Amino acid sequence: MDNCIFCKIIDGRIPSVKVYEDEFCTAFKDINPQMPVHIVVASKRHVPSVLGFGAEDKEFLGGIQLAIAKIASQEGLVENGFRVINNCGADAHQSVPHLHYHILAGGDMGERIV
Ligand code: AMP
Ligand code: ZN
Repeated sequence: MDNCIFCKIIDGRIPSVKVYEDEFCTAFKDINPQMPVHIVVASKRHVPSVLGFGAEDKEFLGGIQLAIAKIASQEGLVENGFRVINNCGADAHQSVPHLHYHILAGGDMGERIV
């Protein structure tokens, strides 16, 4: 999509520090990290949120989930753990309407999710 920042990152029109890519997603370092490790895993397909997928997309969405596990291994996050967050809509303050997951790690994030 032409005016989507994550589509531009995925196809290289905007620079990013990419850490992983496969047919389902592209992962890159968040420009405004909220933990020592903060990786954005963006769907290869431009869909505004998880609400835009259907039953026919099970393999695609599962592919992203498996990619998250691979990225966690690749980045050495398995031993101490990591958190995965998806912001969807206004209350969650989703700022980029292109499906993505945040992988956060690199320190104790506490018992509360927010
Ligand atoms: P969300 O608020 O869940 O939509 O998350 C969007 C995330 O994208 C934020 O954490 C931003 O810091 C991050 N972000 C925005 N622009 C860029 C960029 N050019 N490169 C890397 N991360 C970005
Ligand atoms: Zn997009």
